[in-house]
Amino acid sequence: MSSSITARKEPDVVSESESFAGHPAGLRTLFFTELWERFSYYGMRAILMLYMVAPAAEGGLGFDIKQAGFIYGMYTMLVYMGAIPGGFVADRLLGARLSVLVGGVIIACGHFALAFPQLPSFYFGLVLIIVGTGLLKPNISAMVGSLYGPGDQRRDSGFSIFYMGINIGGFIAPLVCGYLAQSGEFKKMLMSAGLRPEGSWHWGFAAAGVGMVLGLIQYLVYRRHLCEVGLRPQKTTGLTAESKTPLTRQEWLRVAAIMVFFAFTIIFWAVYEQAGTSLNLFVDRLTRNELFGWQYPSSWFQSLNAIYVILLAPVFSVLWIKLGGRQPSSPAKFTIGLLFVGLGIAVMVPASLLAAHGKVSAIWLVLVYFLQVIGEMCLSPVGLSTVTKLAPGKLVGLMMGVWFLAASLGNMLAGCLGGFFDDKDPHLLVMLFGSMAAVAIVAAGLLALLTPSVRKLMGTVH
Ligand code: GLN
Repeated sequence: MSSSITARKEPDVVSESESFAGHPAGLRTLFFTELWERFSYYGMRAILMLYMVAPAAEGGLGFDIKQAGFIYGMYTMLVYMGAIPGGFVADRLLGARLSVLVGGVIIACGHFALAFPQLPSFYFGLVLIIVGTGLLKPNISAMVGSLYGPGDQRRDSGFSIFYMGINIGGFIAPLVCGYLAQSGEFKKMLMSAGLRPEGSWHWGFAAAGVGMVLGLIQYLVYRRHLCEVGLRPQKTTGLTAESKTPLTRQEWLRVAAIMVFFAFTIIFWAVYEQAGTSLNLFVDRLTRNELFGWQYPSSWFQSLNAIYVILLAPVFSVLWIKLGGRQPSSPAKFTIGLLFVGLGIAVMVPASLLAAHGKVSAIWLVLVYFLQVIGEMCLSPVGLSTVTKLAPGKLVGLMMGVWFLAASLGNMLAGCLGGFFDDKDPHLLVMLFGSMAAVAIVAAGLLALLTPSVRKLMGTVH
């Protein structure tokens, strides 16, 4: 497959008319591939827990909440941890472009395995998605970085746009897959077609797989726009010669800078991912979920972050471009990111105090997520971009893997911390959210102090 990708005579430069919002045309290809990959990931994730705990009579697996929670936690941790071997495979063996393709095929097979009701096929599907995402996620991000030259000021902006694609996928997916899996209307449709209505879950999982297939088709059709990006390492940079050269002192210092970002990023995700754990429960049990007298499902709050990102990503993309050389350095952006995620969770302290007297207004959560997404925009796409700038060329995939390892550990911590949630004990909630806020804000202060040293490690990279 790779030879068919590389063998055709491609123009080296894609014409300006084919550029994507002022960015290289390859960004469009990667934007839509990642949109569909995230569609499949978040669509499946939205129904995973519900499917595991649903009784067998309703087509579910009938697991208890503890067991389901454990599998959910392990899965979300491993799916990001797979980025380490996935990045390594791309650096050493396949190159990023082919890794994304192979990863996408494995992901699609994983979702289709979940479309079958047997338990072994369920576990097999999860393993396939972990392996496939490990191959795809870090390497598609590395390819976005490769679209830009070392001094190109559009890089952070490009990652903001890419990040928007991620969240468009993340926003639509739960609506589509959730509808197929859970809605009474679709169950009726299945019955009238002579099919089992309790099999609806598997239609939701299959829809996730279809999304990934659409992403792959798009990736192949528009591969031309990627020019040389992500081809096998030995074809473009001469893997054998390169891998024998040890890293220079400068490269080691940059790797050290990535490690500093890595440590702070774990704290960021541990707080941010409360969205899926303690904040999710807070919304469900302690919030008035009504709009003009109309009750909406608590799970809808899961789409709010994605909507905020879709609205804010263009703002940040333009902001970074406008600021050009005057934009804050990456460690300064990380500091702002940590500060905002801390301020966001701090809003939960008065909300929890109020919850002692009954359910609180949803406005609190609207504010929490708004602050947290501002933080996310300063840290997550910026982090992707910074890793592509700092990683030594031959290690860019592996370093991306390290970036996602921070997400993996953050997700795991978020699960553990979220486990302390108790809706009957508002004082415990004040302590829980207050200490998370304190840790994030203190970490922001620490990173601000470390910023000059981190900038030294980064050398000429901003
Ligand atoms: N929400 C983003 C995504 O799905 C970031 C995930 C992460 O790095 N933790 O890509």
